[in-house]
Amino acid sequence: MFSDEIEILKKKGLLRVIRDRNAYLKPIEKSEVLKNSLPVDFELYGSSHILIEGCEYINFSSNDYLGLSSNRLIMDAAKQAIDIYGFGSGASRLLSGGTDLNLKLENIIAQFKGTESAIVFNSGYTANTSVIPAITDEDTVIFSDELNHASIVDGCRLSRAKKIIYNHADMQHLWDLMKKDNSRRKIVITDTVFSMDGDIAPLRELYDICLQNDAILYIDDAHGTGVLGNGRGALPHFGISPTPWIIQMGTLSKALGSFGAFVAAGKETIQWLINKTRGLIFSTALPACVIAASIKAIEIIRDDSTLTKTLWDNRERLFRGLGELGFDTSKSRTPIIPLIPPPLFAEDAIENTNIFSEILKRNHIYAPAIRPPTVKIPRIRFSVIASHTAQDIDILLNILRDMRNGTDHIMK
Ligand SMILES: *Cc1c(COP(=O)(O)O)cnc(C)c1O
Repeated sequence: MFSDEIEILKKKGLLRVIRDRNAYLKPIEKSEVLKNSLPVDFELYGSSHILIEGCEYINFSSNDYLGLSSNRLIMDAAKQAIDIYGFGSGASRLLSGGTDLNLKLENIIAQFKGTESAIVFNSGYTANTSVIPAITDEDTVIFSDELNHASIVDGCRLSRAKKIIYNHADMQHLWDLMKKDNSRRKIVITDTVFSMDGDIAPLRELYDICLQNDAILYIDDAHGTGVLGNGRGALPHFGISPTPWIIQMGTLSKALGSFGAFVAAGKETIQWLINKTRGLIFSTALPACVIAASIKAIEIIRDDSTLTKTLWDNRERLFRGLGELGFDTSKSRTPIIPLIPPPLFAEDAIENTNIFSEILKRNHIYAPAIRPPTVKIPRIRFSVIASHTAQDIDILLNILRDMRNGTDHIMK
């Protein structure tokens, strides 16, 4: 079954494979005095280095922007919750799957986001695919950016609304399309940070257009939460205050290093979602330990901005370095930095990108080739995170310099 189709993907260089990593601990460096008196201790690498099939790589493919997935305080919060609540949640939130931690998390999210209310979902994918159908009907028209995340695309497909796609971040196009339409309800849906180009949606303009056209603005802040606006997300980044007609979705699985997602909005919107969202009603609630981890993660970001500062320092170091080497980084404004490989290794853009990624891998750099149909123009996508050291980034830049110069040893 499917063997012919798989063969075609292989031939085109488009076959996807899963590469799971091994556990990877590094010895904790101790002072000279302590070195001989204590057994060796280990700590986790904060996603910056990974081990795959026994080989070490500097990892530029993680969304763990702040390194929180291996933060001790968060790990301890999760362990403690397991001791108190057990592991599995046992039921949907509408039955008995939630705990008092859920409400605590939702309150802290609402506070953090400056909204009246919030609700937690099992994943960002679940949130988008079930919230979008819940807030739209036959009389609604959805205006969706052409580069929105797959989960938004799928959410639109599941909705009964009319769908209109506007050119990426093209406000004139959106305005023109909106003027032509006289549906009863309008909703504009956009990623805040676009995950393949690392650019930021023009939220100021989107805000004005929605205000003037009486439209709802639904933002997917998956890559903005913990990253933009001192960690508070895209709205604060633009100095926009939440209003009842803005619905903010975000994930707990990326910069927050946990798992799950949320929607922060007005009280009535959240109450409606509790009544209508199938991904919430018909799916088992997240384990309490996951909720506990998310609470701790938000507390850390809320109370301490050093991690976001390190993230942006690292981002600037890599972005500046790539610019100095003359690489095309598309429209990146965030820690997501695409590199459109120059045609060094093959004429075909997909093959060239695959080879580019493969050479990086041989040189212990882990950065995925992103290819059609995910994107039109194949690219390498670097995600820089707070736990990278300056040295990690410089190693990458040196390898890229050698690749550009065609230095022999790099091709071995
Ligand atoms: C990752 C991502 C999602 C999905 O979130 P998960 O919690 O991983 O399911 C949704 N939207 C965007 C823009 C994302 O980048």
